[in-house]
Amino acid sequence: MNPKRLRILKEGNSKIGPVVYWMQRDQRAHDNWALLYAQQKALEQKTTLFVLFNFVPSFLEAAIRQYGFMIKGLQEVESELKKHNISFVLTTGDAGEEIPKFVERVNASLLVTDFNPLKIVRRWKKSVADKIDIPFHEVDSHNIVPCLHVSDKQEFAAYTIRPKIQRLLPDFLDEFPALQKMKTKIEKNKTDWTSVYQSLNINNDVKEVDWLLPGENAAHKVLQEFISKKFVNYGTDRNFPTHDAQSNLSPYFHFGHIAPQRVALAIQPLTDHAESHKAFLEEMIVRRELSDNFCYFNKSYDSFEGFHKWAQDSLNLHRKDKREYLYSLKQFELAETHDDLWNAAQMEMVNKGKMHGYMRMYWAKKILEWTKSPEDAMRIAIYLNDKYELDGRDPSGYTGIAWSIGGVHDRAWFERPVYGKIRYMNYNGCAKKFDVKKYISNNINPLS
Ligand SMILES: Cc1cc2nc3c(=O)[nH]c(=O)nc-3n(C[C@H](O)[C@H](O)[C@H](O)COP(=O)(O)OP(=O)(O)OC[C@H]3O[C@@H](n4cnc5c(N)ncnc54)[C@H](O)[C@@H]3O)c2cc1C
Repeated sequence: MNPKRLRILKEGNSKIGPVVYWMQRDQRAHDNWALLYAQQKALEQKTTLFVLFNFVPSFLEAAIRQYGFMIKGLQEVESELKKHNISFVLTTGDAGEEIPKFVERVNASLLVTDFNPLKIVRRWKKSVADKIDIPFHEVDSHNIVPCLHVSDKQEFAAYTIRPKIQRLLPDFLDEFPALQKMKTKIEKNKTDWTSVYQSLNINNDVKEVDWLLPGENAAHKVLQEFISKKFVNYGTDRNFPTHDAQSNLSPYFHFGHIAPQRVALAIQPLTDHAESHKAFLEEMIVRRELSDNFCYFNKSYDSFEGFHKWAQDSLNLHRKDKREYLYSLKQFELAETHDDLWNAAQMEMVNKGKMHGYMRMYWAKKILEWTKSPEDAMRIAIYLNDKYELDGRDPSGYTGIAWSIGGVHDRAWFERPVYGKIRYMNYNGCAKKFDVKKYISNNINPLS
């Protein structure tokens, strides 16, 4: 592993004992640098390796839709690890309490974890580091070029991070070694997944979906299908909401079921389709990694204070502008606006758990237009995105919403009411671009 992936969260005191990998964001057995690093340390010390997942019975707005996807993915992780003689352990409760307890119980010598820029996870890590006295190492297993290596500040836009990523990519886009089978025998006990489901304290109204299956195997199948059927037209068709041209990989990236690096290794040789090649790698590497950069270096990634000064100043000047329509959270949630295109986008997200990428921009911008303040718009957009999207609660979500409502990573546009200098989108623009009637009829609100 390239050592630049590693960050020491705590020096700690060395001792003899098992290595523990606290799996958080990268929920997969293969192509996982944090797990491979933990395994290498365990092999060097001739000791046992534990993979620990701490289960939190409620998380942001996640519902059974997202929890079901995650739990099924973890069941696959457990059985895959078992084939490699690696124990999978699940604890439940506050990570800041549970991880240190486990470390003490098994008398661990080293704690390894993966990288996540979100505030809540960083708080957990800080609390764990304060309570343990062994070394605590973090490995960026999610970004191809590690987030903290590519830049040490908030990047202004894609054009500022792109050359940095491109320069460093050859150092990091390498083949993964295989996960090895450990020699140590492991305990036979299996996680009681029924109790895990019973422990959930969440919203059961947002149902699981069956069009996209969870887990590492399913993620690889979706990638293969994208390559064989959709990739050729990705460059031209990805922004047409009535075309099935996107990869659908974002839920897998979000739960870590597949490594973006594995996807990049599969796409890299497909240079015959230059437009698709360029567009896909731009979205999947530059845009996705820019989101981690934004959330890591801007702690206000989910609020008005996170916007650039020009955007805050401009939106402040338009606070008192008359809004033609004003809707409550409930009206938005029930897709009860006057705009059938917006309602269709909301219904696509509610029913499918994944709104088309192009419509996400329109959807969030209209929330800015139809609420009384940008703060309300942020709160409503994040609440709905986190509750219904399979890929919600992700840096790309907070960044996409901040881009749409607060011009983050974008530039100032012509001044107009409510939006100020934030880029505007409208119904007629969509109608000129794609078949809005077809999109609307594909995503009918059954209550309307
Ligand atoms: C308002 C708004 C909300 C969003 N919410 C989320 C979210 O909650 N979770 C999420 O993962 N993405 C979010 N996005 C980004 C983007 O829309 C989705 O990543 C994309 O639509 C996912 O579908 P796909 O995997 O089929 O994409 P593809 O078009 O196949 O792209 C491949 C991959 O590239 C990355 N990517 C594509 N577009 C973007 C983008 N604009 N920003 C960052 N990465 C991108 C994703 O990792 C994606 O899986 C949001 C964008 C906006 C404007």
